[in-house]
Amino acid sequence: MRAGPIGGVEVPVIGMGTWAIERDDRAGAVRALRAGLDAGARHIDTAEMYGSGRAEEVVAEAIDGRRDEVFLVSKVLPDNASRAGVHRACEASLRRLRTDRLDCYLLHWPGRHPLEETLGAFEELRAQGKVLSYGVSNFDADLLEDAVRIAGPGRIACDQVLYHLGERYPERRLLAACRRLGLALVGYSPFASGPFTSSPVLDDIARAHGATARQVALAFLVRLPGTFAIPKSGNAGRVRENAAAAGLVLSAEDVARLDAAFPVRDAGELPTL
Ligand code: NAP
Repeated sequence: MRAGPIGGVEVPVIGMGTWAIERDDRAGAVRALRAGLDAGARHIDTAEMYGSGRAEEVVAEAIDGRRDEVFLVSKVLPDNASRAGVHRACEASLRRLRTDRLDCYLLHWPGRHPLEETLGAFEELRAQGKVLSYGVSNFDADLLEDAVRIAGPGRIACDQVLYHLGERYPERRLLAACRRLGLALVGYSPFASGPFTSSPVLDDIARAHGATARQVALAFLVRLPGTFAIPKSGNAGRVRENAAAAGLVLSAEDVARLDAAFPVRDAGELPTL
């Protein structure tokens, strides 16, 4: 599968989300995550917040015996992101995930604890080998600049942000900032978290490629260097469909048509969480 660097490690452009996966049939969800690994979607995104830790337990079951294949990401809640809180939260995530390390550890969104504390704790975890890299989530371009100033160059691996056809705000300023600062942009909720409404343009392009509309949407979202997508599905067939989108190459004309049908909005920066 096509890959790009996150924190110096080559990671497939399509990964797997796990928000609310604990509500899916457990065996089916585990099968789905394993099918994703088989299909090359080795980037698994989870968080202590998801199901209050229960999503991490589902992930633990899925990666049992396959830990070395996975680029494993979890997130600390902003309320837990004091220096001591980050260490406690990380230990708890590692315990639930039944592993000794995270490939990347993120601050879930900006909160009340000073970034100096959170990033300082991330750096300590990195020195201890408990996290191999770290990053942020839901940071706009200005906040990202602040974070990089505090952490130092080359320290922050990625910014994970909302990015789908109807919400292309990261393309306004954030992606350029990520490139300048040398970090990856991981797009979450590529299907806008819920029912996905196709469109005549998507259907048309999908038909021409023998693909699905969702695959076209994913291919569009990872077309730019330095971008990644982490669709969530608790179903093995749908996970395979999503992973296969990494092999779909859109033509310049496809991209131009999608660009016109789903324009980058003029106003607004980060949507409020
Ligand atoms: P999403 O990936 O945009 O959409 C998930 C929904 O689409 C689920 O209902 C899923 O249903 C369905 N789906 C997925 N693939 C499908 C397919 N091929 N055909 C039909 N339906 C399909 O939503 P998301 O969960 O919000 O975002 C993805 C991940 O990003 C999350 O799971 C989480 O890991 C991460 N995230 C991060 C943040 C943050 O603040 N950092 C916020 C939101 C999300 P089934 O499961 O039934 O297939």
